[in-house]
Amino acid sequence: MQTLTADIVIIGSGVGGTAVAHQLAGSGAKILILERGDFLPDEPQNSDAEAVFGQQRYKTRDTWLTPEGVAFRPGQYYYVGGHTKFYGTAMFRFRESDFEDSVMDGARSPAWPIRYADLAPHYAEAERLYGVRGQAGLDPTEPPREPFPHAAIPHEPVIAALSGQLTAQGLRPFHMPSAVDYGPGGTCQRCGTCDAFVCRFGAKGDAETRVLRPLLAHPDVRLERQAEVLRLIADEDGRRIVAAEVRRQGEVLRVEAPTFVLSAGAINSALILLRSACEAAPDGLANRSGVVGRYLMNHHLTGLMAVNPFAVNGTRFPKTLSLNDFYHGLPDDPDARGNIQMLGNIQGAMIRAAYPRTPLPLANWLGRHTVDVLAMSEDLPNVDSRVRLLPDGRVMVDYRPGGGGAHDRFVRHVRAVLRRAGFPLVLRHGFGIQAPSHQCGTVRMGDDPATSALDALCRAHDHPNLHVVDGGFFPSSAALNPALTIAAQALRVGAHLRRTRAT
Ligand SMILES: Cc1cc2nc3c(=O)[nH]c(=O)nc-3n(C[C@H](O)[C@H](O)[C@H](O)COP(=O)(O)OP(=O)(O)OC[C@H]3O[C@@H](n4cnc5c(N)ncnc54)[C@H](O)[C@@H]3O)c2cc1C
Repeated sequence: MQTLTADIVIIGSGVGGTAVAHQLAGSGAKILILERGDFLPDEPQNSDAEAVFGQQRYKTRDTWLTPEGVAFRPGQYYYVGGHTKFYGTAMFRFRESDFEDSVMDGARSPAWPIRYADLAPHYAEAERLYGVRGQAGLDPTEPPREPFPHAAIPHEPVIAALSGQLTAQGLRPFHMPSAVDYGPGGTCQRCGTCDAFVCRFGAKGDAETRVLRPLLAHPDVRLERQAEVLRLIADEDGRRIVAAEVRRQGEVLRVEAPTFVLSAGAINSALILLRSACEAAPDGLANRSGVVGRYLMNHHLTGLMAVNPFAVNGTRFPKTLSLNDFYHGLPDDPDARGNIQMLGNIQGAMIRAAYPRTPLPLANWLGRHTVDVLAMSEDLPNVDSRVRLLPDGRVMVDYRPGGGGAHDRFVRHVRAVLRRAGFPLVLRHGFGIQAPSHQCGTVRMGDDPATSALDALCRAHDHPNLHVVDGGFFPSSAALNPALTIAAQALRVGAHLRRTRAT
């Protein structure tokens, strides 16, 4: 078996893995990034709704099982840059309260082992790295912050009108922070496809374009593509990780390093740890507490299509508006709460992919006549919500979201707000775990090794040379998009690794 060596092995080239690499490049350490996928091909299908949604061209062909044993193809995308190749570019900081303990409908959302202030400088760095555009001072829930690195993307007319209608209801809409190279001199072509599509112009602030590509020019950073980590191997007493077993284009390799950073995404990182069970760690690595794979969260996400039968919505880039007036609860129902933000344009082919019986002309008509909004609420961690590795190696996802009743009440309220804003019909569509886009929580961090897998710097309590740095570390999900928080904590962890290497 061929053996590769490096000083630091990073598994996964998504937000988490690339941010750690960014901090370590230039430290003298030889960094090897192992990525299961390849570069996404640049092709017309990148922005073709029929190819992306109808034919599911880019989604993994792997299947997972529901608890009932039904196989499904999850919305997992294995490419260099990870899920950010398809993400919607909303780059929010979590609120100060998101790091604190809270209760919703009687269920508990635990405190993080870090506070907003610990992440604040790294949030600022992540925003610079990803080129985030926004306007400080308008979002009523905004934590203390400095101005955004770039000015906010202006609203197009339909979104400006919606903003005005919300303001007329006494609400405080604001410019959504977004990582798109938009504006004078920018590369965004306003092609009309962004959220859930690949950008053909390099304008989307994704992990490959903004973080990894510049690093690959560095002599100490090496990327191995089509290199899937099968398991990690610990030494005899199960303390130190000594190697990763990797399948690279059909061949199995051993990769050795003194330090490992696992950033394969919340679900896959948990699976790799579970698959790495050995005599000294029979329940999987980093899993003395038994939490690995548990507390799987994904947000309560409801898409709302606000129909205006009398006007065509010709907006090219709608993701410029968000609303946090109900982030801490409705006036008469504090548990019903969350964020509201624009979705990318929903097209007929996307509607038909979810509802195949919709006649094409109707789907296309809806695609032209709706303004599309996402209502997002916190998914409360539940010990029984989990991803499991079955004895035969198959993967079962037993997802049990927490706080669904409160989210439904929140969505009812949001629909009423949209109706008052001039949309007589507001259709709803819930996104489930089949699209695990905001997956998190499966390798949670915490101060107590009995109830968490990682410490506050994402180091495994059980293994001094293993860090897990992706959505898996979240102890709770907040009600805002996860990518900027993953990036900020990964930059924090990377800075720590660099400092400790130097001493
Ligand atoms: C359609 C869509 C829209 C979204 N929109 C937003 C948004 O607007 N804002 C936001 O904040 N978030 C958004 N998200 C979520 C966001 O993209 C993710 O939270 C974030 O990218 C996760 O980063 P990560 O580093 O945790 O994991 P990933 O992005 O999953 O990266 C993990 C990497 O590891 C690789 N990998 C997996 N298994 C292995 C293995 N065994 N060996 C080697 N490599 C492996 C994967 O191929 C991948 O490259 C969206 C997601 C989707 C799918």
